[in-house]
Amino acid sequence: MSEVDKLVRKNVRELIPYSSARDEYEGDMGIFLDANENPYGTMNRYPDPHHKKLRNAISRFKNVPQENIFLGNGSDEVIDLCFRIFCNPGTDKALIMTPTYGMYEVAAAVNDVEVVRVPLDETFNISIPSVIPLLHDERLKLVFICSPNNPTGNSMESNDIELIINSFKGIVLIDEAYIDFSLHPSLSQKIMRYPNLIVMQTFSKALGMAAARIGIAFASSEIIKYFYRVKSPYNISALNQEKAFLKLAERGTIANQVRTILQERERLIDRLNKIVSVEKVFPSDANFVLVRVKDADLIYSRLLERGVIVRNRNRIIRNCLRITVGAPEENSKLLNELEKIDL
Ligand code: PMP
Repeated sequence: MSEVDKLVRKNVRELIPYSSARDEYEGDMGIFLDANENPYGTMNRYPDPHHKKLRNAISRFKNVPQENIFLGNGSDEVIDLCFRIFCNPGTDKALIMTPTYGMYEVAAAVNDVEVVRVPLDETFNISIPSVIPLLHDERLKLVFICSPNNPTGNSMESNDIELIINSFKGIVLIDEAYIDFSLHPSLSQKIMRYPNLIVMQTFSKALGMAAARIGIAFASSEIIKYFYRVKSPYNISALNQEKAFLKLAERGTIANQVRTILQERERLIDRLNKIVSVEKVFPSDANFVLVRVKDADLIYSRLLERGVIVRNRNRIIRNCLRITVGAPEENSKLLNELEKIDL
C-alpha cells in the first residue's frame, strides 16, 4: 500500500466506484444508446465526467500535467471531498488557522470531523510554535492553509508552509483561491515533490467565473484518482465546462482585469488610509482589503443604506470590514460614502 493509500479512509480505498455510461465507452463517435438520454435537443447528453477537454486546457494554462488536475463543483466541493476521502467521521480531526475561510469548519461539521483551531499570530501569519507540536496527533488528517488568506488578505510565508508539509504525515491543503492577485508564486509546482500536498485554485476569482462553479485541485495523480472515484459522476455541467474552456482562451483580458483590480486595490488602500473612521488598512495580496474601523456595525449599516454592500467581519475580527475591490466607479462610490460618514 502506498503512503497516499494509507492516508485514505478504508471504505474509500475499497470503494467500487460508480461506472457511468461515459466511463464504459469514452469515444465521441457512434450512435449513443447507452445512457438513457433523449436523442433530441442540444442539452440532451450527459457531460464528460472526466472533464478531459477542460483539464487539458487548464494543464496548458497552469503548466501542470492533466493527471495532476481534479475539477470540482467549486472549491467548496474539493474541500468537502477532502473530508470524505481522508477523515473518518467521529474520530479524525482537521486543523485550521483562524481567522480563515468559513467553509473549512462547515465542511468539517457536515462530515462530523473535529476542528483544531490555531489562531494566526498578530500579523496574521502562521504561528509555527503553536502548529508544529499539534501535527504529531495520529487523529489529525488534514491541515488547511489559506494563502492569500480570507478574510485577512495576506499570504503565508512559503518557508512556514513547507515546514508544515515536511513535518506532517497527513494531507496539507493550500487554498490559493486568491493567488492571481498575489506576488507570491503558486505552490502548484510542488505537488511533484510532496505526495501529501493538495493545492486548490478556482475559476471564481481572477478568472471571473464564480457562477460557473469550477474549483481546481492540483495533487499527485494518486490523490487525483481518489477525487474522481468519490465525486458524483457528472459534477460539472456541460455548459459550465464549455464556458470555462472558452475563458482560458482570454489570457490577455484576464491579465488586464487583474492589473486593473491591483491598481484599484492600491488606490483603495491609499484613500482608505486617509479616512477618519478608518483605523487600520491591512496589507493585501488578494482582491479585497480588510479594514479596521471605529464602529464596524454602524459603518456597515450606513453603507448598506447608501447601497454599498461590504462584508461585516466584526464578529470574527473586532471592528473589521472586508471590502472587495470592485470596478473603479464602484470603489469611488464606496470611498465617497465612507468619507461622508462622520462618527
Ligand atoms: N476558498 C476561499 C479562500 C474563498 O474565499 C472562497 C470563496 N469565497 C472559496 C475557496 C470558494 O471558492 P469556489 O467559488 O471555487 O467554491
